[in-house]
Order: sequence, then structure tokens, then C-alpha cells
Amino acid sequence: MSDHGTILRLGLPDHLAERCAAISEGSTGAPPPSPVVVAWLHHACRIDENPVLEVACHAARSTNSPLVVHAGFGGRHDFANDRQTLFMLQGWAGLQADLRERGIAMSITPPDSGGTSGLRHLAGRARMLVTEDHPRNPYPAWTRAIAAHVHGPVIAVDASCVLPGRMVQGIHDRAFKFRSACESGWNARIHREWPACGLEAPVAGEADLPPGALDLMGRSDQDLRDLVGSWPVDHSVGPVPGMNGGEAEARARWNRFLETDIDRYHRRRNDATDDGTSGLSPWIHHGSISPFRMAREAAARGGDGCDKFLDELLVWRELSHHFCRTEPGHDRIGAVPAWARRTLEAHRNDPRSMRSWEAMSRSRTGDGLWDLAQSSLRERGWLHNNLRMTWGKAILEWCADAPEMLERLLDLNDRYALDGRDPNSIGGLLWCLGLFDRPFPEDRPVTGSLRTRPTAAHARRLDPDRLRHRIRGHISRDRVLVVGAGVAGSMAARTLLDHGHDVVLLDKGRGPGGRSSTRRRGEGRRVAHDHGCQVLRLRGDHRRPLTESWIRDGVVTEWRPRVRLIDGTVRPPADDWYVGTSGMKGLVAHLQSDLRVRFGHAVAAIRRHDDGWHALDENGERIESARRMVLALPAPQARRLLEPLVEDPGRTIDAEMIRTMSAVDFDPTWTLMTHGVEVDPGFDVATDPDPDVSWLCREASRPGRDDHGAWTMHATPDWTRRHLELDRKEVEPLLREITARILGCEVPPGDAHRWRFSLVSRPAGVDHLRSADRSLAVCGDWCLGNRVEHAIESGIAAAGCILRDLGASRVDAAAGTLFQDA
Ligand SMILES: Cc1cc2nc3c(=O)[nH]c(=O)nc-3n(C[C@H](O)[C@H](O)[C@H](O)COP(=O)(O)OP(=O)(O)OC[C@H]3O[C@@H](n4cnc5c(N)ncnc54)[C@H](O)[C@@H]3O)c2cc1C
Repeated sequence: MSDHGTILRLGLPDHLAERCAAISEGSTGAPPPSPVVVAWLHHACRIDENPVLEVACHAARSTNSPLVVHAGFGGRHDFANDRQTLFMLQGWAGLQADLRERGIAMSITPPDSGGTSGLRHLAGRARMLVTEDHPRNPYPAWTRAIAAHVHGPVIAVDASCVLPGRMVQGIHDRAFKFRSACESGWNARIHREWPACGLEAPVAGEADLPPGALDLMGRSDQDLRDLVGSWPVDHSVGPVPGMNGGEAEARARWNRFLETDIDRYHRRRNDATDDGTSGLSPWIHHGSISPFRMAREAAARGGDGCDKFLDELLVWRELSHHFCRTEPGHDRIGAVPAWARRTLEAHRNDPRSMRSWEAMSRSRTGDGLWDLAQSSLRERGWLHNNLRMTWGKAILEWCADAPEMLERLLDLNDRYALDGRDPNSIGGLLWCLGLFDRPFPEDRPVTGSLRTRPTAAHARRLDPDRLRHRIRGHISRDRVLVVGAGVAGSMAARTLLDHGHDVVLLDKGRGPGGRSSTRRRGEGRRVAHDHGCQVLRLRGDHRRPLTESWIRDGVVTEWRPRVRLIDGTVRPPADDWYVGTSGMKGLVAHLQSDLRVRFGHAVAAIRRHDDGWHALDENGERIESARRMVLALPAPQARRLLEPLVEDPGRTIDAEMIRTMSAVDFDPTWTLMTHGVEVDPGFDVATDPDPDVSWLCREASRPGRDDHGAWTMHATPDWTRRHLELDRKEVEPLLREITARILGCEVPPGDAHRWRFSLVSRPAGVDHLRSADRSLAVCGDWCLGNRVEHAIESGIAAAGCILRDLGASRVDAAAGTLFQDA
């Protein structure tokens, strides 16, 4: 393939040489001391027919250098979550063991290795770096970037396509053209065995591995799950039960498909209610099975089913690789054909029926078929390809424009699908916007001359009950009891619900909110006070789709009060401030909108029984029970429920957990709510306006509030501590007097509220705690900090703990045969 000197000098056999491209020739300076050959893998996670490993072994032998195989979680992936990370880790653990049997060391570095990444460390020591020639962004850029740190040559090897991508002549935008350009190349390769190539190389020592490299030998699947739980990845997308990464799993599924289903593939593959596809796309994406083997074995078997299968595996799959290789901006709207861009632009301002990301991702669009398809992605990590085409097309109608549609498609697909982030995903998703297709004569609103696939028409072609059963029927629904319906508990509960589990929430309060609450007072309860949480700051990219959805759906709204600072200056907030549109409790109510919440139930004790966890009231009567439990309470209240269990014979709750909770500190706050104040002091919010007051706020400055002259005041922690045990009635006039001092006017009588556990002053420093058997998780803002955003992350982490455990304990026999494409 390349006449580059390095590749020629390696003397590779033809089947490897044709797959190689030199990315850089390296520098001429002095080589690093004790150099190694590095094989960096990111997708080709297999020992079988892996040209990257074979080239690297050749290079190591011919330069007499030790070989280190590397795979790391160091790079920033937009959708690094439990589901994707565990699947990859399972695959890499298997590969590490297989390589070790052959005396080859494999370094796997975790996402939190910090400082210099494992790959960067190895690059500095590399005599040569061999990696994958993978066309999907960001890998081409990452490869070029790492090449700058390698002293020696960097070689990229195509491990994905039967006809190496760089050998395809010309640029092809339609499948039939691509087929004719590649047919002879495929035929020359699928009828011959992959030449046996020994994986032997000089042995690397411990010292050759980067710091922090993981040795996964002897670690159980549960250990891998716990490892992922401890990593800074998104825990809101849980592993899919029964879908385990790795080469052994992929081979078993392939063999089963070859024996029992491939012959009928041509008849069954388009029916989303049937079980007729291989279901292997996640393993193909993660390189756990050799596409060369699959193509060869299907071709050897022959027949209509195999022909159709080869059409998908070779033509459609490799066309997507070809597209990504020849179009560097393949994940942007500019990559769709010019005719499609023109028609989309002409219809940009057509009226649409907008849906937020949250409504889409949680299957709340109101379109039955679409919501079911999205449940399949979210709960099962897969979507039948035929249904995925309809699912993808429908989104245009719900987005502001085509760029937003593409952003949504990539987000929803890559976040949830185990075969997401693949060149094939790009091909399929852009097909929804006209890629590999032609214009149609009709000119319809919104879609213009794009091919349409209305969900209603697709739904009519399907048996809906059968489809629902295919998608949801096999989910093992577990019952989870969440105690505490504040932000953390609500977030934990909806994350579990979104994975198909049966969740019930208990709260001692009369309505939603916890410390993010809204109190209604006065005649007709017309006066609203946000008397706990004051301001939402929706910081960081992490949950941007969620927070943008709340803004779009009017759950929260921006607030621009006049803020008086401690030095007396008055100005707008320095960053973006948000409030719940119908009070802070409106956000919590929104989080609970499809949850089963039982208010007015104070849990006085919890007990572990054979059938799970029981929540008891003060009389020892059972309120609810479930196999799993989440405690989403302030640390002191959770500790009170857990402490009596430390001595239980099962040792489910250990003393360390109690110690962690005991170390958490909360400040208390006395709050005054009053209305009928008639002055405008020239500010809406005052921060630290007085030695005894930390916050004073005019409620009417919050958008959408009627002006009843209502103010809310928070006393400082010091003042509150000094008056903590006074009665509300005794404290109210004291708080009123201080408020009058600041506002410079008389303040009418109001109500005082004591927050015994208000703002966390010393958090636990972990995102959640769990019982030894993982059946109980504890969360709350106090795990990570003292804000709503900390409660959100902690609630998600607690749900993640339960989901990782449920994923381990359920094996779903049906899951294997439902995947898209090949
Ligand atoms: C005065 C004040 C001002 C604040 N200001 C801000 C701010 O400006 N910005 C910000 O981001 N955050 C602020 N916060 C913090 C924010 O309110 C919290 O971080 C967040 O609400 C915590 O949510 P949570 O779910 O962890 O806990 P909580 O909201 O405390 O939820 C716990 C729930 O458990 C229930 N419960 C307790 N015990 C039991 C039991 N035994 N049985 C059943 N149910 C039980 C409670 O009723 C409650 O609903 C403020 C808090 C206070 C009090």
C-alpha cells in the first residue's frame, strides 16, 4: 500500500503490508534509552486476525525491542459512560489475559490516571508506534497528535475493512458505485484464509509499562464493574444486562448466528419484531471479532442469506468507513450532499413541533413508535437498524434545524447504543439527512425533497404488541425503593426508571422539594417563597443537554436580579442564574413527573430481610419493601437509619460507611419569610448584607412572581447556631428586626423556618456510598458538595451503583440476536 521506507524495511507479508500507512517517519535525533515498540489499540480489541498486533510483533522482532500493547481510557470521549466503559473494559481484560499467555504485556490505563497519559508516556519511549488506521473522528487527529511525541515512525494499520480503506480508488457517494469499485478487491480477499502469523515478540518488563497501568488478571466481572463505578465517567447510562464485551462472547454469538440464522437473513433482517440479524454490531464496532473471518465464513457458506449478509458487511459498512475516510468533517452538517443542504435550508423556517433533548432521550415525545425505539436504545443499548432509520428521520420535525437534528442524532445514538461512535453510525445517521441517497420529487414542509419515513406508516406495518415484547419484554424489572424525594432521590429514581425498573419513592414531606422547596403563604396561599435553595447555576458541559432541556421546556428560567455585594455595589449576577419557573420546587416536581412518590411517610427504621430491604414507620410497621434501596437523605438522617445495622450478622453495612457519614458537616439556617414590605431598597438580592445575614431576596424579582412585597432572609450559620433550639415563634421577631435594619423600613410579621441541615460545610468527597452487597446505595448533595448540581450527580451515581449490580446479576438470553445491520 505505501512505498514508505519504514514499511518496506519491515519486510511484512503482503496481507499486512497492504493495510499499512506511515503517519510519520519519526525524528532523526537520539532515540530514547531502552526503547519499546508500542501497539496502540482503540477498537481492534482481539487476538484473532488482528493486523495491528501482527505488524507490531514484526516490528518488535525486527528491531529486537520489547512490545507493549496499549489501550487507555485517557482521551476525552463525549459519551464515556458506564455502559460503554464496562463493555470496553471487559474486552480489554480478556485481551490482556490472551496476550499474557503469549508473553506480551498489555497496558490499560484508567480515565483518571491524571498527569501524563499512559499513551503519552509510552510514546516518549517508542522506537515505533503501530496503531489503527481508523477514519472516525477524533482518531485521525489523535493519531497525528501522538505521532508528534514519538521518536520513531508511526504506522497506521487498517484492521476494520476487508478491502483496506486506502486501497479504494476514487470517492463514492452511492452504494452501487462503491460496490462496483470494490467488488474485485473483496473477492480477492474473502476466499482465502488469513495467513497464520505468530504473535511472538521480545518480552516487555513491568518497568516498560506506564505508571498506573491496570493489571486485570484474576479480576472478576464484579471487580470490573466496581472499577468503572469508581471512575469519573457518566453513571447515568448503565450496563446492559447480558451484553458483555470481549472476543469470546463475540465468537460465540457469531458461531450461533452462522449455524442457526444466517441462511434466513435475507428474509428476516428488515423486520424489527423478528430476531433475524446477527446482533453483532457492538462487537464489530469494538473490534472483538475479525470482519475478515466473518466475511470469509459467510462467503464459504454461500446462499441468499449469506449474500445479503455480505452486502451489509462489505458494501454498506465499508461505504461508511470510506465516507469517514474521504470526508474529514464527517460528523458535521456540511458533510451531507449539496442538494440535501439546499432543501433543508429552504425549509429552515417551516413551523415545527419542537421537543427537548430530555423529552427525546426519555421517550416522552408522545409518538408511540418513536418512544419505543428510543426505549430500545436507552434500556437495551441497541436498536434494530430498520427501526433506527425511521427513528432518525423523525427527529427533524422536532428540532430547530438540520444542525440541531444531527447533534441530537449523534448524541442519542452515541450515548446509548453499544455500537455508537462507529463509522457505520455516521453513515446511518447522515443517511437520515440525505447521505448515500437522492432527492425525491415531492417538496414537503420541513423535510423538503428528502426521503421520508413517517413513524405512523412504519407503525402500521408492524405488530405493535410483538414489537413491544421484542424490545421491553425481556427486561428483568427489579423493584427499587428510594427514601428521600429531594433532588438526589428524584434523580436516582428517574435514572432507574429510565432503565426499565420499578421504582417507588418515599418522603416524609407533604410535597416535592426537600431543601429545594417553595413555601406558599398568605391569603389564598398566593405568596411564594423559595425558602431553601435560592439559585441554580447550571455549570459545565457535563449535563448541558439536560439543563438546556429544562430551559427550553420552561422548567427553569433565567433570573437577572440587582445584586448588592458586601462592598455595597449593585450589579447583575456575574454568571448565569436560574430559578424554577414555578418556584424551586417546580424543578423537583418536574424530576418526579413520571415517578411514583408517596409523600407523608417518615421512615423511622430500615431492615434487611431475605426478600430485600424493608422501610418501617415509627410503629415498626412496614411502609414499603424492595430488593434494592437508595437512601437519599442528609447524611445525619441516613446515618441514623444505618447505624443500627452495623452489628447485623450479614455485615452489609460496615463501620467505615458510618464513619464517612459522621465526618460530613452541615451548617444550619434560620429563614424568615415575610410579605407586605413596600419599599424598594435599590436591590433585589443582598449577599452578606449584615454580620448576621448571609442572603436577603425580594421574591418578586424572580421571573413570573406577583409582587406581594415578599422577602426571604437567611441568617448566617453562626447566628443560627446561637439560636438553634429556640422556638419558631421566638426567632421570628429577631429575624424580622435584623431584616428591618437592612431594608431600612418596618417589616410585617412573617414565618420562620429552621433548616437543621442546610448547606454542607464538609462533604464526604465520594459521589455515593454503598452497602457491602451493593443492594443499598446512599446519596445526597453532601457526598460531593452543597449545591443542587451535587445532589444531581450523587443521585445519578447511586442509581449507577444499582444498575451496575443489576446488570451483573441478570443474563438475558434474548439480547444477543437483536442488533442492527450485519
Ligand atoms: C437555605 C438553603 C439555601 C440553599 N441555597 C442553594 C443555592 O442557592 N444553590 C444551590 O444549588 N443549592 C442551594 N442549597 C442546597 C440545595 O437545596 C441542596 O443541595 C439540595 O436541595 C439537596 O438535595 P438532596 O436531595 O440531596 O437533599 P434534600 O433536599 O434534603 O432531600 C432529602 C429528602 O429526604 C426527606 N427525608 C428526610 N428524612 C426522611 C425520612 N426519615 N423518611 C422519609 N423522607 C425523609 C426530606 O423530606 C427531603 O425531601 C440551599 C439549601 C438551603 C437549605
